[in-house]
Amino acid sequence: MGKSLRVLIADPWADDGSRWVRGLEQRGFQLIWQQVKSVTEFTVALSQQGWDFVLVHSTSSDDLIGEILTQVRESGIAVPVVVVSGNPTENVTVSTTSADAPSGKTGTELASIVSAVEYHPHYAARVIQSSEPVWEREANLSALIENTEDAIWSIDPQYRVVVFNSAFQQQFYTVYGVALSQGMNLVDTLPAELRDVWTGYYDRALRGDRFSIELHYDVPGVPADIEVSFSPIVAKDGSADVAQPQIAGVAVFGRNISDRKRAEAATLAAKDQFQAVLDAVPGCVSWFSADLKYLGINRYLASTFNVSPENFIGKELGFMASSPGFSEFVEEFITSSLKESSVEIAARVAGELRSYLVVAQKYAQNQAAVVVGIDITDRLEVEEALRESQERYALAVQGANDGLWDWNLRTDAIYFSPRWKEMLGYADGEIGNSPTEWFSRVHPEELDWLQAQLAAHLDGRSPHFEIEHRMRHKDDTYRWMLSRGLAVRDRDQKAYRMAGSQTDITKRKRAEEQLLHDALHDGLTGLSNRVLFLDRLGQAIERSKRQPGYQFAVLFLDLDRFKVVNDSLGHVVGDQLLVAIARRLEPCIKFGDTFARLGEDEFTILIEDIKDVSDATRLADRIHLELQSPFNLNGQDVFTTASIGIALNDAKYDRPEDVLRNADTAMYRAKALGRARHELFDTAMHDRAVALLQLETDLRRAIAVNDLGRSCQEFHMRYQPIVNLRTGKVSGFESLIRWKHPTRGWVSPGSFIPVAEETGLIVPLGQWILKEACHQLKQWQHHFPDHLPLSVSVNLSTRQFAQPDLFEQVSQILCQTDLAKGDLKLNLKLEITESAIMENPEAATELLKKLKTLGVQLMIDDFGTGYSSLSYLQRFPFDVVKIDQSFVSRLGTDGDSEEIVRAIVTLAHNLGMEVVAEGVETAEHRDQLQALNAEYGQGYFFAKPLAADQVASFLSNTPHWM
Ligand code: C2E
Ligand code: CA
Ligand code: CA
Repeated sequence: MGKSLRVLIADPWADDGSRWVRGLEQRGFQLIWQQVKSVTEFTVALSQQGWDFVLVHSTSSDDLIGEILTQVRESGIAVPVVVVSGNPTENVTVSTTSADAPSGKTGTELASIVSAVEYHPHYAARVIQSSEPVWEREANLSALIENTEDAIWSIDPQYRVVVFNSAFQQQFYTVYGVALSQGMNLVDTLPAELRDVWTGYYDRALRGDRFSIELHYDVPGVPADIEVSFSPIVAKDGSADVAQPQIAGVAVFGRNISDRKRAEAATLAAKDQFQAVLDAVPGCVSWFSADLKYLGINRYLASTFNVSPENFIGKELGFMASSPGFSEFVEEFITSSLKESSVEIAARVAGELRSYLVVAQKYAQNQAAVVVGIDITDRLEVEEALRESQERYALAVQGANDGLWDWNLRTDAIYFSPRWKEMLGYADGEIGNSPTEWFSRVHPEELDWLQAQLAAHLDGRSPHFEIEHRMRHKDDTYRWMLSRGLAVRDRDQKAYRMAGSQTDITKRKRAEEQLLHDALHDGLTGLSNRVLFLDRLGQAIERSKRQPGYQFAVLFLDLDRFKVVNDSLGHVVGDQLLVAIARRLEPCIKFGDTFARLGEDEFTILIEDIKDVSDATRLADRIHLELQSPFNLNGQDVFTTASIGIALNDAKYDRPEDVLRNADTAMYRAKALGRARHELFDTAMHDRAVALLQLETDLRRAIAVNDLGRSCQEFHMRYQPIVNLRTGKVSGFESLIRWKHPTRGWVSPGSFIPVAEETGLIVPLGQWILKEACHQLKQWQHHFPDHLPLSVSVNLSTRQFAQPDLFEQVSQILCQTDLAKGDLKLNLKLEITESAIMENPEAATELLKKLKTLGVQLMIDDFGTGYSSLSYLQRFPFDVVKIDQSFVSRLGTDGDSEEIVRAIVTLAHNLGMEVVAEGVETAEHRDQLQALNAEYGQGYFFAKPLAADQVASFLSNTPHWM
C-alpha cells in the first residue's frame, strides 16, 4: 500500500473532486480528501485538519486562487498549495513539474507527485509556493527548469519560443548551429526537411491534443533516444468554456530515454536469444520461477502438447497433469539445494505413454530453473528389442547346442566358438582363427560346393548361406554338419563380416541314408530293389548312347520250382534260400555291377562295360555252376536251379523297362526249353511277345463283342463225336471252341486259351461256352430221340476250375437251359485236367463232390501227361478217364505206350471209371483200344470237330468205322 495523503481540493467547477483524487490514487497514494467550492468553505476546512497540501484548479478565477493564498498565509498553516491546470474531465492528476519542498515533512509527498507527473507531462503546470512571493516562485521555477537534464520549452501559437532551457538548446539546436533566444521561430530555425514534421507536432498540440513522440538521433553529443511530450497551454484569461479552452501555446518536454531504450533493447535481445536457443532444442524445454510457475516454454514443447507458449507463462507447475512424475521431479529439484539433476519419467502425449529423460539446471542465482525433456521412447524400445534379441539368440544357441563362427572379412580372422571346436573333437586352444581351420576339414567332395555357396552369399546372389557337408573329426571320421551363416554388409552392400552356426546332423543324415537305402533295397536280401535297378539300368542306357562301344547286359534269373520249396518247406526256409542264393552269387558280380532282387524268386544282374555277349553267358554259366551244390537250410539240403534270360543293349533301348521285359521273355524261353539253362533274347522272342500282346488285345475285343450276343460274333463251337468202341454208336460230343479272327482267320484254342487263362478272360468266355454247350445238348436230346442218350463234355481250364463260384455258375446254367429237369438222364460232362486239380487237391475234391450232386459227370482230361501218379486217381470222384492222345498216337510203334494205356484202363476199371481214348486217327488205333478194353474212342478216324448243323447229317449217316 502507498503512502497516505490528506488533500484539500478547491474546485468550484468540478462536481466531484474525486476525479483529481483517482489520478493520485493510481499513483499509489491513499487519499483523505475534501472538496470545497468557495473561500468560506475553504477557510473552515483549512482549519479543521492537518492537510498535506491544497489543490486548486487553475481554471478557478484569480480571485479564488488569490483568496485561497491569502487565507493560507493568514492562517499561518504551513501547507503547500498546488495549482493545477488542465482539463479536469481527464482522469489524470495534474501536478507541478517540479517542486521545492517548502519545509518539513511534506517534501517527499510533493516529490512523489512530481514523479507521478513525469509520466504524464502533457499538462502544463505551475507550482505556487504559498509561502513565497510570485517573483520568487518564478525564479525558482526558472532555476528548476534550467537545472533539469530534460529539455523543456514552450511556444506560442506562432511557434515562437517562450520558455526554454539549455538542455533544449543543447539537444535540439546546437547540432544545427543555432543559438536560441526568446521569441525565435522554432520551426524556421530547423533544417528544411524537419520543418513540416515539427510544424505538424506543434499544430497538433495547438489543436488541444496531448501526445508524445519518440525521436531517435545518431548524432554525437545528443541523446540517441528522446521522448518528446507536447501539451497545449490553456489560456488563463479565456472564457470559462471548459469544453473549448483557448490554447495559448504548447509546452514541450523532451526526455532523454536512451538508457531506457538501450536497456529495453538489450533485454529484448537477450530474451529473444534465450527463446531462440531454446526453440532450437529438439526436446521439451520449460523454465520455472522459484515459486514453481512457468516462465516460459520452447516451441518444441508447445507443439508437443499442442498449446501456445503464452498459455504457459505464469501457470502453476503441473497444471497440464500430463505427467505427475515430471511435476514431482521439478518441485523436488527447485526446492532442493541441487544445481542440476536428471531423471527418466513417463508422460502421456496425445494419449500415448512415452518415456522422457529430463534434465534440470538452475540459473539466475538459483531463482529459476530450466528443465529439458528428451523423448527416449524409441531409443528405449530399440534397446529393449536389442536386448531381447540378444537373449533370444543366446538361448537359441545354448538350446541348439550349435557351434558358432564369426568371420571378420577385413582381417580374414575367424572366431570359432569352443563348442564349434568341441564338435570336431578339439579343445579350445587346438584350433586357431584362420578360415583354413574350417575349409581344410571339409570333406573334399563337398569343399568346392561349400566355397561356391559362400561366395554366392557374399556376392549377394543368395539370401543366406546354408549347406550340409561333412567335416573331418579329430578321430579322422567324418561327421555331417549343417553350416549356416549370414553376412553383415556395409552401406555399399559389401560384406565385411559373416557369422553363422554349425549343427551336427550326423544322426539325421544316417536316418536319411537308411531311409534312402530302404527305399532302394530289398529288405530280405539287402540287394538293390527294382527301383534302384531300373535307375541304374536307365543310366547305363544313357551312357551307351553317349559312349560308342559301351555295352551292357541284363541277366534275368528265376528259380525253377521255388514254389515247391515254399510249399513243402515253408516260407521261412524259402526266404532263407533266397538270402543264401544272394550271398552265394554276390562274389560272382563284379564291383560296380548291380545285383537286384525284383521280388519273389526273381533276380536281375546288370553287367556294364562288357566286351561282347560272352561276358554275359560266362556269368550265366558261373551262376548255374554255383547253384549245383546244395544249400543247407535248417540242417536240410535244398537243391535249386535257375532259368536265366539275357538281354544285351544292342537293341537300342530307350526305357529300362524294355530291357528288363526282354530279359524276362528270354528267361521264359529258357524255362520253356527245359529250365536250368539260359537263353539270349532275340527278336523272334520279341515278336512272339508282341504277337501275344496283340492276341490279348484282340481277345478282349472279341469277348466284348461276343458278350453283346450279336450275330457277328467271332466265337463258334465245334463238337467232336465220342464213339462207343463196342457198339460203334455215337455216345456224345466234346465241345471245342473256335475263334474266327477278323483278319487272322481261325485261331487255334491252343494259342488263345492260355492267353485267356492268363488274363482272366477265360471266365466270361467259359460261361458262354458252358451255356452254348448246354443249349446244344438240350436241342439234340429233343431232335435225336433215336440216338439217346447223347452227352456233351465241356472243357474247364485251370483258372475256370479255381473260380470260387464255379458250382453256382454251373447249377445256374443247368437251370436256365432246363437241363436239370425231366426224366432224361442229365448228360453234361466236365473235362478237367490233372494240373487243375493238383493246384489244390483238397479244395478240388470238395468241389468235385459238390458238382456231382448236380448230376454232372466228371472226366479227367489229358491223363498221363501230368506229374501225378496213377494212385492219385482214387482220391478224386471222377467218372471217366480220358487218355491223352500222345499215348494213343504211339500205339503200335511204342510198347511202353501200350503198357501205360493198359495200366490206365485197368486202374480206371478197378476204380469203377470208364475210359475215353483221345486222338484215334487210324483203324489200328481203334483195334488196339478195343483190344485194351477202352470203352470209348475220339479222333479224326471217327470225325473231326463238327459245326452244330453238321451233327444231324453225321448222325443219320451209316457209320463207316465199324
Ligand atoms: P483237348 O481238351 O485235349 O481237346 C482235344 C484236342 O484234340 C482238340 O484240339 C481236338 O480238335 C484235337 N483232336 C481231336 N481228334 C484228334 C485227332 O485224331 N488227332 C489230333 N492230332 N488231334 C485231335 P483243339 O480243338 O485244337 O483244342 C485244343 C485244346 O484247347 C483242347 O485240348 C482244350 O484243352 C482246349 N480247348 C478247346 N476248346 C476249349 C473250350 O471250349 N474250353 C476250354 N477250357 N478249353 C478248350
Ligand atoms: Ca478235352
Ligand atoms: Ca485232351
